[in-house]
Amino acid sequence: MSKAEIGLIGLGVMGANLALNIAEKGYPVAVFNRTASRTGTFFENAGDLRENVVPCATLEEFVAQIKPPRPIILMVQAGKAVDEQIEGLRDFLSAGDIIIDAGNANFRDTIRRFDELENSGLTFIGMGVSGGEEGARHGPSIMVGGEKQAYERVESVLKSIAAKFEGEPCCAWLGHGGAGHFVKTIHNGIEYADMQMIAEIYGILRDGFGMGAKDIGGIFAKWNEGRLNSYLVEITAAVLEADDPMSGDPIVDRILDRAGQKGTGRWSAIEAQMMGVPATAIESAVAARSISADRELRLLASKTYGSAPAPTNTKPDASVIQDLELALFAGKIAAYAQGFAVMDQASDEFQWNLPMPTIARIWRAGCIIRSQFLGTLARSFEADPDAENLLLINDFVSMMEEAHPALRRVVAQAALAGLPVPALSAALGYFDAFRQARSTANLIQAQRDYFGAHGFERIDEGGEHHGPWGSGA
Ligand code: NAP
Repeated sequence: MSKAEIGLIGLGVMGANLALNIAEKGYPVAVFNRTASRTGTFFENAGDLRENVVPCATLEEFVAQIKPPRPIILMVQAGKAVDEQIEGLRDFLSAGDIIIDAGNANFRDTIRRFDELENSGLTFIGMGVSGGEEGARHGPSIMVGGEKQAYERVESVLKSIAAKFEGEPCCAWLGHGGAGHFVKTIHNGIEYADMQMIAEIYGILRDGFGMGAKDIGGIFAKWNEGRLNSYLVEITAAVLEADDPMSGDPIVDRILDRAGQKGTGRWSAIEAQMMGVPATAIESAVAARSISADRELRLLASKTYGSAPAPTNTKPDASVIQDLELALFAGKIAAYAQGFAVMDQASDEFQWNLPMPTIARIWRAGCIIRSQFLGTLARSFEADPDAENLLLINDFVSMMEEAHPALRRVVAQAALAGLPVPALSAALGYFDAFRQARSTANLIQAQRDYFGAHGFERIDEGGEHHGPWGSGA
């Protein structure tokens, strides 16, 4: 007799923890993994939760163990593995069963899979899950896309495993097709920007002032008690304060300065570009990881040009520390303004009708970018759901007015000292361009007309015009 309420395929880091989370909430879960030994190890280590876990050695057995209509979560590597698993499952599934891809899929793949399964009797849900290993085990933030009726059939289990913010589950249906995976992608793009700007402030303190990791960690720990309170600032402090058991040095000083990336940040930047929405802080954060990755080239360039001047080895005074805190905050506001603007445009283009206040609410707990700031954001969006840009919402106007002069000072000082702050500079550049009543695009239009006869509008007359460039143009 079928025992499980739900199935889960893929017992890697995320899948194993999600399965334990489901079992702990009282839902019997059937599990399957491509490499069978992993299923065995998982079951052995499940302890008391074993009574709610049904380990399966074959897909056929796995499907047979789930009560129809069967919700099946895929938590395998994104890309080809998802298509292979869907293909493998199709032989055994029946009409009404729901396949839920919970990996970091590209939302365009999700739309394709959704369409491919549309007339098969099976339903497809694309579900973004954030929170890493810990989140998967004890409560992630869950962003769902697909048919609303299909979501409603799994809503109770998803809400029970999701993180809770003041009792409210951080899980919501956000729109049809690829909406959930798109929102997860932008979540990750914002995460890239948040992380990069934190790293840039760390760089100023380390390379500009010559501070040690532990002292810098202390500054982040203090900031975590104020407006910057967030998971990423909290873990930054913890990371900077941790020692390497091998050398006794701060562990961060022993970690190679080459950042990895798996694609979601890059997808955010690509989608922003495709839609013509400026997301410069996110783009710069992606580019900064790419520059870091070619360490050999950086070493060569540092020999060619010399690195930035030596640190001053002076303790930054309170006003400098406050400027750095405010600069990070201003950069954060600009990055979130960009991320939400990208979602706003995508919502129109894909007719998702994305609920911005809900997105901010389900990011308040469980996910990697969770922060006090998101609480303010959720409240502001609720008060002004039609705001065209975060930077035009009253609360954010006052916060930005307080913070942007510091961002300006920090970016200027870093530039003079030769310290790279690409994401903070991009955030500042975006803000300054965003609020510039008369931009310099009049010259761009003239240049375009000069070489390409593209025409321009005049400020004093309607219609399309051309300049007096003559035949030499
Ligand atoms: P992981 O630990 O590397 O595990 C990957 C899983 O995918 C394993 O169960 C593996 O099975 C399975 N797999 C790989 N190729 C397969 C194939 N061709 N057919 C069937 N199964 C295959 O990965 P993870 O960190 O759990 O990530 C899983 C998904 O969650 C990814 O999409 C990832 O981007 C996303 N995600 C990860 C995090 C995170 O913090 N790690 C956070 C959010 C989302 P075998 O044991 O047989 O190799």
